Amino acid sequence: MKCCTVYGDMSADSAADQYPTVNLCNECVDADASAKEDAQIVSIEGDYDPGLGDSCEWCGVEVSDEQI
Ligand SMILES: [Zn+2]
Repeated sequence: MKCCTVYGDMSADSAADQYPTVNLCNECVDADASAKEDAQIVSIEGDYDPGLGDSCEWCGVEVSDEQI
């Protein structure tokens, strides 16, 4: 599980909505890395941030189900 900045709602007013920071599991990070120009991750900020919740933003897997 990683904390990542991703592309969000580009029509939003705030940068926090345009580039939200979310937790993503390793599978989603790996899938995005192979998506090339369709990639949705702007940058990986670091390890899982419990302040952002306890599950993957994209697929919903819980942090306890995966090795961090
Ligand atoms: Zn995931």
